[in-house]
Amino acid sequence: MSFSKLGLNDKLVQGILATGYTAPTIIQSRAIPAAVAGRDVIGCAQTGTGKTAAFVLPILNRLAADPHAKHHTLRALVLTPTRELAQQIEESVTAYGRFMSLQSLAVFGGVNIQNQLKRLRRGIDIVIATPGRLLDHIERRSIDLSTIEVLVLDEADRMFDMGFIQDVKKIISKIPANRQTMMFSATMSKEVRALTASIQKHPEYIEVGEQRKPVETVTQHFYSIHQELKIDLLIHILETTQMESVLVFSRTKHGADKISHRLERKGIKSIAIHSNRTQAQRQRALAGFKHGDYKVLVATDIAARGIDVEGISHVVNFDTPTFAEDYIHRIGRTARATLKGDALTFVSRSEQEYLRKIEYFIGKRFELKKYPGFDDTKRRTPETHPATEVRKHEHVGEKKRHWESGGDQSRVWKEKREERERSGHSNRHKSDFQKPFRKRRRDTREHKRPA
Ligand code: AMP
Repeated sequence: MSFSKLGLNDKLVQGILATGYTAPTIIQSRAIPAAVAGRDVIGCAQTGTGKTAAFVLPILNRLAADPHAKHHTLRALVLTPTRELAQQIEESVTAYGRFMSLQSLAVFGGVNIQNQLKRLRRGIDIVIATPGRLLDHIERRSIDLSTIEVLVLDEADRMFDMGFIQDVKKIISKIPANRQTMMFSATMSKEVRALTASIQKHPEYIEVGEQRKPVETVTQHFYSIHQELKIDLLIHILETTQMESVLVFSRTKHGADKISHRLERKGIKSIAIHSNRTQAQRQRALAGFKHGDYKVLVATDIAARGIDVEGISHVVNFDTPTFAEDYIHRIGRTARATLKGDALTFVSRSEQEYLRKIEYFIGKRFELKKYPGFDDTKRRTPETHPATEVRKHEHVGEKKRHWESGGDQSRVWKEKREERERSGHSNRHKSDFQKPFRKRRRDTREHKRPA
């Protein structure tokens, strides 16, 4: 199948070919014809499948096709959970639409609003926004949603996870009901299904691959390692293996900085990104990584959302992700489109329960191996709970008692909450982030149950 057979206009096909794509991916070949015909679409697809083009191309096609529409009137809105995703979608709009004269703008928090206001005053056809900052614009009346014809909800499951859903519903209530609505989600939870039932009309349901299955071109390895030796193992792997560009995931911001410093000290070019960095610092770090100035990018889950770098050869989960969904998202950063990639997960004894959750979620058992050729006998202290391990290890002599008195999970929640607050706006009450995951999910469902 070629792009010219999907019902897209010539200038758009030229734009896609100029981007370097030769044939549509599966989600694109199934979603684009339905969306071009004006239908609502639900795309259930993992990250890395080409879902961005699956909704951007039909939007551009629709906007270009209607000669009666007033030029540079806001006609399409894409809602997405993070600023990185907003920027990357906007870059895709600009790339695919390079031979068209449409104006697009990424609208997200954490940056000065004045530049966005200036651009909006000049007229914009497509806005790609995170929910919090979009609501600010709506309140200021700098964005009017009454002329929207196409709405896209990208990563709908993430919007639920990040507590944005009330904001999203508020935004949707301001968009005309006769719009076209496309929704994309890596997983189809009950919450996501309920949302689609309330905002879409007879949607075409497109599922690519199994929801719970990571992209098949990623080879997954799990290594059993003492928490204290993880950094030595990472350095050993980086020094002894041919690796082009490596994305390392840390559970906490503090941990990300620490890993990056240790690698730098060993002469391995590395940079950390997380929400304590300013937007400009994050962009510089990402650009440096894409450009090859850094071999290793260390990131937290939220900062890494939407990182779209071609050619990440390895993803290393320095900490086993607490949630199986995060595992799928993390390893989806490698093997983008069709390239091959490796995912290495370090599992300490007390993280084995997270590995069990991942196995249950994916429906597959993994072998937990020792890393070949690495001496793991030099460990200094007996293993304790990961919380205490991280703290002891990171704060030797530094308010040790203070750290030992709290639970690691509360610290993780605190960091996640701060990241969410920085990356947008959250409705969720502070205390919600201290509840265990299952409890939160139950609360959300109860909240959503019709009165
Ligand atoms: P996405 O799932 O939208 O984040 O896309 C994943 C990656 O695949 C991005 O780097 C895209 O640039 C790339 N991509 C999307 N569609 C195609 C295509 N038809 N051919 C080659 N690469 C593509």
